[in-house]
Amino acid sequence: MRKKIVAGNWKMNKTLQEGVALATELKDILAVEKPNCEVIIGTPFIHLATISEMLKDSVVAVSAQNCANKASGAYTGEVSAAMVKSTGAEYVILGHSERREYYNETPEILKEKVDLALENGLKVIFCIGESLAQREANEQEAVCKAELMGSVFHLSPEQWKNIVIAYEPIWAIGTGKTATADQAEEIHAFIRQCVAEVYGAEAADNTSILYGGSCKASNAPELFAKPDIDGGLIGGASLKAPDFKGIIDAWK
Ligand code: PEP
Repeated sequence: MRKKIVAGNWKMNKTLQEGVALATELKDILAVEKPNCEVIIGTPFIHLATISEMLKDSVVAVSAQNCANKASGAYTGEVSAAMVKSTGAEYVILGHSERREYYNETPEILKEKVDLALENGLKVIFCIGESLAQREANEQEAVCKAELMGSVFHLSPEQWKNIVIAYEPIWAIGTGKTATADQAEEIHAFIRQCVAEVYGAEAADNTSILYGGSCKASNAPELFAKPDIDGGLIGGASLKAPDFKGIIDAWK
Protein backbone atom coordinates (compact mmCIF):
# COMPACT_ATOMS: atom_id res chain seq x y z
CA MET A 1 0.00 0.00 0.00
CA ARG A 2 1.25 3.47 -0.82
CA LYS A 3 2.27 5.85 1.92
CA LYS A 4 0.16 8.74 3.12
CA ILE A 5 2.39 11.76 3.52
CA VAL A 6 2.22 15.32 4.79
CA ALA A 7 5.37 17.20 3.79
CA GLY A 8 6.25 20.78 4.66
CA ASN A 9 8.22 23.08 2.40
CA TRP A 10 9.63 25.92 4.48
CA LYS A 11 11.06 27.63 1.39
CA MET A 12 13.42 30.50 2.28
CA ASN A 13 11.99 31.05 5.76
CA LYS A 14 13.33 30.66 9.31
CA THR A 15 16.75 31.40 10.71
CA LEU A 16 18.56 28.40 12.18
CA GLN A 17 17.25 29.23 15.66
CA GLU A 18 13.67 29.72 14.44
CA GLY A 19 13.84 26.49 12.46
CA VAL A 20 15.13 24.53 15.44
CA ALA A 21 12.30 25.97 17.57
CA LEU A 22 9.67 24.97 14.97
CA ALA A 23 11.09 21.45 14.55
CA THR A 24 11.22 21.02 18.34
CA GLU A 25 7.59 22.12 18.71
CA LEU A 26 6.49 19.73 15.98
CA LYS A 27 8.49 16.84 17.40
CA ASP A 28 6.98 17.39 20.85
CA ILE A 29 3.40 17.64 19.55
CA LEU A 30 3.77 14.49 17.43
CA ALA A 31 5.42 12.54 20.27
CA VAL A 32 2.23 13.00 22.29
CA GLU A 33 -0.17 12.34 19.43
CA LYS A 34 1.25 9.96 16.84
CA PRO A 35 0.46 10.88 13.22
CA ASN A 36 -1.44 8.52 10.91
CA CYS A 37 0.85 9.42 8.02
CA GLU A 38 4.50 9.99 7.26
CA VAL A 39 5.54 13.53 8.18
CA ILE A 40 8.40 15.30 6.39
CA ILE A 41 9.80 18.80 6.79
CA GLY A 42 11.66 20.43 3.91
CA THR A 43 14.09 22.89 5.45
CA PRO A 44 16.71 25.22 3.98
CA PHE A 45 20.17 23.63 3.61
CA ILE A 46 21.59 25.34 6.67
CA HIS A 47 19.09 23.59 8.96
CA LEU A 48 19.52 20.08 7.62
CA ALA A 49 22.31 18.70 9.80
CA THR A 50 21.06 20.17 13.07
CA ILE A 51 17.43 19.28 12.54
CA SER A 52 18.14 15.79 11.15
CA GLU A 53 20.15 15.06 14.30
CA MET A 54 17.37 16.45 16.52
CA LEU A 55 14.67 14.41 14.75
CA LYS A 56 16.74 11.23 14.45
CA ASP A 57 14.49 9.17 16.73
CA SER A 58 11.25 10.96 15.98
CA VAL A 59 8.47 10.29 13.49
CA VAL A 60 9.46 13.32 11.41
CA ALA A 61 11.76 12.90 8.39
CA VAL A 62 13.83 15.72 6.92
CA SER A 63 14.06 16.88 3.32
CA ALA A 64 16.20 19.35 1.43
CA GLN A 65 14.49 21.67 -1.04
CA ASN A 66 17.08 21.33 -3.79
CA CYS A 67 20.44 19.80 -4.69
CA ALA A 68 23.02 20.45 -7.40
CA ASN A 69 22.96 18.88 -10.86
CA LYS A 70 26.69 18.17 -10.54
CA ALA A 71 28.30 15.55 -8.32
CA SER A 72 31.11 17.71 -6.86
CA GLY A 73 33.76 20.23 -7.78
CA ALA A 74 34.14 23.89 -8.67
CA TYR A 75 30.50 25.01 -8.45
CA THR A 76 30.62 27.84 -5.94
CA GLY A 77 27.55 28.05 -3.75
CA GLU A 78 26.06 24.72 -4.78
CA VAL A 79 25.18 21.81 -2.47
CA SER A 80 25.46 18.28 -3.83
CA ALA A 81 23.13 15.35 -3.27
CA ALA A 82 25.96 13.56 -1.40
CA MET A 83 26.27 16.54 0.94
CA VAL A 84 22.51 16.55 1.58
CA LYS A 85 22.62 12.83 2.33
CA SER A 86 25.55 13.29 4.72
CA THR A 87 23.41 15.59 6.92
CA GLY A 88 21.02 12.74 7.69
CA ALA A 89 18.25 14.10 5.44
CA GLU A 90 16.20 11.39 3.71
CA TYR A 91 14.44 13.35 0.99
CA VAL A 92 14.96 16.16 -1.49
CA ILE A 93 12.23 18.23 -3.14
CA LEU A 94 13.01 18.71 -6.85
CA GLY A 95 11.17 20.42 -9.68
CA HIS A 96 9.34 22.97 -7.54
CA SER A 97 7.75 25.60 -9.81
CA GLU A 98 9.64 28.38 -8.02
CA ARG A 99 12.94 26.76 -8.95
CA ARG A 100 11.78 26.10 -12.51
CA GLU A 101 10.67 29.73 -12.85
CA TYR A 102 13.23 31.79 -10.89
CA TYR A 103 16.30 29.59 -11.33
CA ASN A 104 15.63 28.37 -14.87
CA GLU A 105 15.62 24.69 -13.92
CA THR A 106 14.85 22.87 -17.16
CA PRO A 107 13.61 19.28 -17.45
CA GLU A 108 17.17 18.24 -18.43
CA ILE A 109 18.72 19.89 -15.35
CA LEU A 110 16.05 18.32 -13.15
CA LYS A 111 16.73 14.92 -14.67
CA GLU A 112 20.40 15.27 -13.67
CA LYS A 113 19.38 16.30 -10.15
CA VAL A 114 16.95 13.39 -9.83
CA ASP A 115 19.63 10.93 -10.96
CA LEU A 116 22.21 12.27 -8.51
CA ALA A 117 19.72 12.35 -5.63
CA LEU A 118 18.78 8.69 -6.18
CA GLU A 119 22.40 7.61 -6.71
CA ASN A 120 23.17 9.13 -3.32
CA GLY A 121 20.37 7.33 -1.52
CA LEU A 122 17.90 10.20 -1.23
CA LYS A 123 14.19 9.87 -1.93
CA VAL A 124 12.77 12.49 -4.27
CA ILE A 125 9.59 14.52 -3.95
CA PHE A 126 9.19 15.55 -7.58
CA CYS A 127 6.89 18.52 -8.25
CA ILE A 128 4.85 19.03 -11.38
CA GLY A 129 1.94 21.32 -12.26
CA GLU A 130 0.51 23.80 -14.70
CA SER A 131 0.30 27.60 -14.76
CA LEU A 132 -3.02 29.48 -14.79
CA ALA A 133 -2.73 30.13 -18.54
CA GLN A 134 -2.11 26.43 -19.15
CA ARG A 135 -5.10 25.47 -16.98
CA GLU A 136 -7.30 27.96 -18.83
CA ALA A 137 -6.16 26.39 -22.11
CA ASN A 138 -6.99 22.95 -20.65
CA GLU A 139 -3.36 21.88 -21.00
CA GLN A 140 -2.85 20.59 -17.45
CA GLU A 141 -2.63 16.94 -18.44
CA ALA A 142 -0.18 17.56 -21.27
CA VAL A 143 1.99 19.76 -19.01
CA CYS A 144 2.12 17.22 -16.19
CA LYS A 145 2.86 14.33 -18.53
CA ALA A 146 5.65 16.28 -20.27
CA GLU A 147 7.22 17.19 -16.92
CA LEU A 148 7.20 13.54 -15.88
CA MET A 149 8.60 12.39 -19.21
CA GLY A 150 11.28 15.07 -19.18
CA SER A 151 12.78 14.30 -15.78
CA VAL A 152 11.64 11.06 -14.13
CA PHE A 153 10.16 8.54 -16.57
CA HIS A 154 13.62 7.37 -17.62
CA LEU A 155 14.14 5.81 -14.16
CA SER A 156 14.24 2.07 -13.64
CA PRO A 157 11.32 0.39 -11.82
CA GLU A 158 13.64 -0.07 -8.83
CA GLN A 159 14.55 3.62 -8.76
CA TRP A 160 10.90 4.61 -9.17
CA LYS A 161 10.17 3.18 -5.71
CA ASN A 162 12.00 6.20 -4.26
CA ILE A 163 9.89 8.78 -6.09
CA VAL A 164 6.97 10.70 -4.58
CA ILE A 165 5.06 12.97 -6.96
CA ALA A 166 3.66 16.32 -5.83
CA TYR A 167 1.03 17.84 -8.10
CA GLU A 168 1.13 21.57 -7.50
CA PRO A 169 -0.93 23.80 -9.79
CA ILE A 170 1.14 26.97 -9.94
CA TRP A 171 -1.96 29.13 -9.75
CA ALA A 172 -2.75 27.66 -6.33
CA ILE A 173 0.71 28.05 -4.74
CA GLY A 174 0.74 30.74 -2.07
CA THR A 175 -2.32 32.39 -3.62
CA GLY A 176 -5.02 31.19 -1.26
CA LYS A 177 -6.73 29.60 -4.30
CA THR A 178 -6.95 25.84 -3.88
CA ALA A 179 -7.86 23.44 -6.63
CA THR A 180 -11.21 21.92 -5.73
CA ALA A 181 -10.99 18.37 -4.45
CA ASP A 182 -12.64 17.19 -7.70
CA GLN A 183 -10.19 19.15 -9.89
CA ALA A 184 -7.25 17.75 -7.91
CA GLU A 185 -8.59 14.19 -7.98
CA GLU A 186 -9.09 14.32 -11.73
CA ILE A 187 -5.48 15.18 -12.43
CA HIS A 188 -4.09 12.90 -9.70
CA ALA A 189 -5.94 9.99 -11.35
CA PHE A 190 -4.47 11.05 -14.71
CA ILE A 191 -0.95 11.20 -13.23
CA ARG A 192 -1.39 7.73 -11.74
CA GLN A 193 -2.52 6.49 -15.14
CA CYS A 194 0.64 7.96 -16.72
CA VAL A 195 2.74 6.15 -14.10
CA ALA A 196 0.87 2.91 -14.83
CA GLU A 197 1.62 3.23 -18.55
CA VAL A 198 5.36 3.33 -17.82
CA TYR A 199 5.80 1.23 -14.67
CA GLY A 200 2.64 -0.89 -14.57
CA ALA A 201 -0.51 -0.85 -12.47
CA GLU A 202 1.08 -2.17 -9.28
CA ALA A 203 3.85 0.42 -9.22
CA ALA A 204 1.30 3.15 -9.96
CA ASP A 205 -0.84 1.92 -7.11
CA ASN A 206 2.18 2.10 -4.80
CA THR A 207 3.15 5.64 -5.84
CA SER A 208 2.29 8.43 -3.42
CA ILE A 209 0.92 11.50 -5.21
CA LEU A 210 0.65 14.61 -3.03
CA TYR A 211 -1.39 17.73 -3.64
CA GLY A 212 0.19 21.15 -3.08
CA GLY A 213 -1.25 24.63 -3.36
CA SER A 214 -2.81 26.59 -0.50
CA CYS A 215 -3.57 23.39 1.38
CA LYS A 216 -4.60 24.06 4.98
CA ALA A 217 -6.35 22.37 7.88
CA SER A 218 -9.75 23.52 6.61
CA ASN A 219 -9.48 22.01 3.11
CA ALA A 220 -7.10 19.07 3.72
CA PRO A 221 -9.82 16.59 4.85
CA GLU A 222 -11.81 17.01 1.63
CA LEU A 223 -8.69 16.78 -0.55
CA PHE A 224 -7.21 13.79 1.29
CA ALA A 225 -10.54 11.93 1.14
CA LYS A 226 -10.10 11.54 -2.62
CA PRO A 227 -8.82 8.12 -3.68
CA ASP A 228 -5.81 9.34 -5.66
CA ILE A 229 -4.66 12.08 -3.26
CA ASP A 230 -2.14 10.61 -0.84
CA GLY A 231 -1.38 13.71 1.18
CA GLY A 232 0.01 17.18 0.73
CA LEU A 233 3.08 19.27 0.09
CA ILE A 234 2.51 22.30 2.26
CA GLY A 235 4.15 25.71 1.99
CA GLY A 236 2.73 28.54 4.08
CA ALA A 237 0.82 26.32 6.50
CA SER A 238 3.97 24.37 7.39
CA LEU A 239 5.57 27.39 9.06
CA LYS A 240 3.54 27.15 12.28
CA ALA A 241 3.37 23.84 14.16
CA PRO A 242 -0.37 24.05 15.01
CA ASP A 243 -1.30 24.82 11.38
CA PHE A 244 0.84 21.95 10.09
CA LYS A 245 -0.51 19.61 12.76
CA GLY A 246 -4.05 20.56 11.67
CA ILE A 247 -3.24 19.21 8.19
CA ILE A 248 -1.58 16.06 9.58
CA ASP A 249 -4.80 15.50 11.56
CA ALA A 250 -6.75 15.32 8.30
CA TRP A 251 -5.56 11.70 8.14
CA LYS A 252 -7.23 10.86 11.47
C1 PEP B 1 4.51 24.92 -2.12
O1 PEP B 1 5.19 25.88 -2.41
O2 PEP B 1 4.97 23.78 -2.27
C2 PEP B 1 3.14 25.16 -1.63
C3 PEP B 1 2.27 24.21 -1.77
O3 PEP B 1 2.90 26.38 -1.09
P1 PEP B 1 1.55 26.88 -0.37
O4 PEP B 1 1.05 25.75 0.50
O5 PEP B 1 1.95 28.08 0.44
O6 PEP B 1 0.57 27.22 -1.46
